[in-house]
Parts: sequence; C-alpha cells; structure tokens
Amino acid sequence: MTNILVVNAGSSSLKYQLIDVDTENVIAKGICERIGDSHSNASYKRAGYAVELEQPLGNHAEAVALVLQLLTDPENGVVHSPSEIAAVGHRVVHGGERFAQSALIDDACIAAIEECIPLGPLHNPANLMGIAGCREMLPNTPMVAVFDTSWGQGMARAAYMYALPYEAYEKHGVRRYGFHGTSHAYVTQKCLEKLDVPAEGVKIVTCHLGNGSSVSCSVGGRCVDTSMGLTPLEGLPMGTRSGSIDPAIIPYLMERAQMSAAEIDAYMNKKSGMLGISGVGSDFRDLWKAANAGNDRARLALDMFCLSVKKLIGSYAAEMGGVDAIVFTAGVGENDQAVRDLILRGLEFLGCDMDYEKNLALPKGVEAELTRPNSRCRVFVIPTNEELAIARDTARIALA
Ligand code: ADP
Repeated sequence: MTNILVVNAGSSSLKYQLIDVDTENVIAKGICERIGDSHSNASYKRAGYAVELEQPLGNHAEAVALVLQLLTDPENGVVHSPSEIAAVGHRVVHGGERFAQSALIDDACIAAIEECIPLGPLHNPANLMGIAGCREMLPNTPMVAVFDTSWGQGMARAAYMYALPYEAYEKHGVRRYGFHGTSHAYVTQKCLEKLDVPAEGVKIVTCHLGNGSSVSCSVGGRCVDTSMGLTPLEGLPMGTRSGSIDPAIIPYLMERAQMSAAEIDAYMNKKSGMLGISGVGSDFRDLWKAANAGNDRARLALDMFCLSVKKLIGSYAAEMGGVDAIVFTAGVGENDQAVRDLILRGLEFLGCDMDYEKNLALPKGVEAELTRPNSRCRVFVIPTNEELAIARDTARIALA
C-alpha cells in the first residue's frame, strides 16, 4: 500500500481523498466546509462507513488535524498512524509560467506559488492555506503541488499570446494559461491508451464540460491550445460565467449601466452563462427540464453552449491539421447525452462515423466509444479523475 493524501483547499473548504496508488483505490474521502466559521462541518467516508461531523474549525491546520484524526481513528479509520501517509498532493490553481510540471513543495516552491497570487487571487491563497495546514500537521511528509495551469504551458507563443501591447505580457503576465489542465492531461493520456498507437503526432480534442467548462487540444500528448485564458472566464459559456465576449462590451456596459470594475466582474462570473441566458439556473439537468417544458431561453442557453463547443472543436481541428479523437468528460460531458448529441451532429466532415443511438442510450458516467468501428476520428466519453491524476504525480515526484 502506498497512500497519498490528495488535498484540494478552497478559502473555506478542504476536500481530501486518501488514495492507494498501488491499486489506485480511494481508501477514504471527504470534505471540511465553512472553515473559519463557528459552524464548520466535515464529512468522512470509507467503504462501509460514513460520518458527518459538526465542530468548529478555526483554520486549515485544524481541518487537517481533524482529517488525520478521522483517518487514524482506531475504530473507523483506515490507517494506524499519519506515518502511513507516504506523501500529500495539493491541487494548486495558478502556477503562472513558473511551473510547467508538478513540483516538490519546499520553501522556494511556496515562494513561487505566492508570486503567482496576482494571477490567481481567489485560489492561490486558499491553496497555500491548505499547504501550510498540512505542513504544520505532517512536517516530515513530502508534498507535491499539482497545477491546473501546467498543461497549458505546452502551448506555443502564437497560441498563448493576446494581441495587446507586448508589455501587457512582459510587465503583467497577461497571456493564455488555461485551466482544468490536470483533467485535460488525464483524459488525453487515457485516450492515447485506448487508441493504442504511438502517441507521437496523435491529435486529440478534450472537452471538459462541467460547471466550469473548457476545451483543449493536443498533439502527441502536448497541449496545443485551450479555451480558458488568463483566468477561467474565457472560452465557453459556463454555469454562471459568460465565456468569451467582445471585450468592448465591458467598457460599454460600465458606462451605459454605471457598473464598477468589481460589478462587471461579478456580472460576467456569477450572473452570466447558462444562468444569465436562461434565467432558470446553471445546472444542465434543470435547463433540460425547463427546455423540454417549452422554456425558450433555457433551450437558447443549451443551444449556445453546444454551438460554442462545436466551434472550438472545429477551430482546433484546423489548428492541428485534423483530429484523431474527441473526448468528453466532467459532469456534463460524462452525463448529458443530449448535449453531446447536439455538439456531435454535423461533425461527420471531421471523419466521425457516429453511433448516435449508442450515445443517447449511454448510461451516465461510464467510459465508452461513441463512434463506429473504423471511424477515422473516434469519439469517447472518458470520466475524469483529477484526484487520481494528482496522486499519481505526487507519488512519481515525492517517492522517486
Ligand atoms: P465542477 O466544474 O463543479 O467540477 P462538474 O464537472 O461536477 O462540475 O459538473 C457539474 C455539472 O454537471 C452540474 O452543474 C450539472 O449541470 C452537470 N450534470 C451532472 N450530472 C448530470 C446529468 N446526469 N445530466 C446532465 N448534467 C449533469
């Protein structure tokens, strides 16, 4: 058994999974929420046992202490002592240009993550709190940072630059970084295994469609382009995010509707996308229910989403000079057959010999191929597993 603790820390939450990387089984998992509040709560689940606790958790270190207590509990725990945790893997959102790979956490690594705070002001400080909490409670356990942005570091300059004055890049780091990198990398690797050909030159488009969504493409397992940019706002319309819009809309609305920078930011991040268009909500299940009951704006939101994905697949195929496989993953990509249907209809020109009936009948969240045998471009549903990807990277780097 080689147990890796995977930690995904938010500003007031800490999700964790203990994964045995030898078998790739999840041994235990849970979440601490409302950290820093007097009404914090925590969950813990292992095979045959689950518990929800309510107890104050003043900070992330206290949350980690509780997680360790739950994992080592003599009756309901899964390990005898914290020393049975071989390493800890931390999800870190923004690694800027400093991290093209996952990295062993030491003081220099932490300083570099701190330097990336301006690029990820909401996430990096929270991720650092999770790291600090674990270092306090597990001072002798090696830790690894796995970055959402590492995948995007594979892009060439022409793909990641914005056509602003060059100084915006040099002075302020304004460029496309891309997010969901751990997921895009994981399903790309799985897709390469399924294709069972040498990776070199293989062109894959990965559609990570969830609450936040992005499409990416790669040649030979290396990212060529990705739809999220400096921040996770760019690209597809999402649950509550606008995705790409004419940038001139921002000053236009600021003047016309008297919005401040903070207000327009919230407008685009929290009130737009599927929610903003439909007025119904951000969850695709609710949108389909409304659309099927005749709600025109819910249907419009779904049509806009699918059209945006289709356009990205087409542009990435052009960018790569073809496409060998298209992968769907994450909450919507894995579960929403009707969204996949709308996206895939009409992509025969790329060489997709679709089995539309199979797609529509596919159970939710299972790995499957949606194209017929001998299809020139193959289409797959591959469930993502970011925690496992983090655990694998952590074991590779910390236990080498
Ligand atoms: P996150 O970006 O928060 O990680 P997920 O990848 O878990 O999101 O995706 C969550 C979204 O997946 C939900 O908002 C919902 O719209 C969608 N979803 C989940 N299950 C289904 C389903 N059975 N059918 C359609 N959509 C689903």
